[in-house]
Amino acid sequence: MAVGRLTDRQKLRVHRFTPITKSEGPGVRACIQVQGCPIRCNGCGVPQTWSDRGGALIETGALVDAIILGPPVEGVTFLGGEPFAQADALATIAEAVRLKGLSVVTFTGYLREDIENSASSGFDRLLRATDLLIDGPFDQAQLDFSRPWIGSRNQRYHFLSERYAHLASEIGNLPNRLEIKIGPNGNVIAGGLGPLEASKELLAAVARSFR
Ligand code: SF4
Repeated sequence: MAVGRLTDRQKLRVHRFTPITKSEGPGVRACIQVQGCPIRCNGCGVPQTWSDRGGALIETGALVDAIILGPPVEGVTFLGGEPFAQADALATIAEAVRLKGLSVVTFTGYLREDIENSASSGFDRLLRATDLLIDGPFDQAQLDFSRPWIGSRNQRYHFLSERYAHLASEIGNLPNRLEIKIGPNGNVIAGGLGPLEASKELLAAVARSFR
């Protein structure tokens, strides 16, 4: 049964859809990495997501179906690219999955204050449909992998609903995670965040296990 194909044929430009991950927010989650980012931070680890011409255009309803009907997850994470560059389409997805009891984590390179002061109705919708907002551009000069899911000290957690409010006091104790997945055709997909050395060690360990 299709649960997401309800009202529109709105499309989202997607870099990658991950049906299940433990490295992009609290618990076990689906993850939509959007394609397109106007912010373009120095030292960004994913410059391949900057162009708004890459990736694939996918209907929001199909993405909702993939999340709801896929492996069991507690929520979905939106990261980029820049999620607020496609705020309306992501808000549609967020509102639909929340109706099914799932949570929404949204990363952004913008500041919460700028989003709140924007006149964009899409910004407002996505903010209202987000449980945990992680904001701020990546700043190479403030590199810090000690906190979960983020890479620089200036980035902030905003608990916008009660869903993850309990994490506010313990966020400093949660680990950052790197995740490596091996696809059925042998392709390697990396997720999460960590120091470059740790990523290299993990990839080397994976390579050794295949020898
Ligand atoms: S906002 Fe995110 S995706 Fe965009 S340039 Fe900065 S780190 Fe890269």
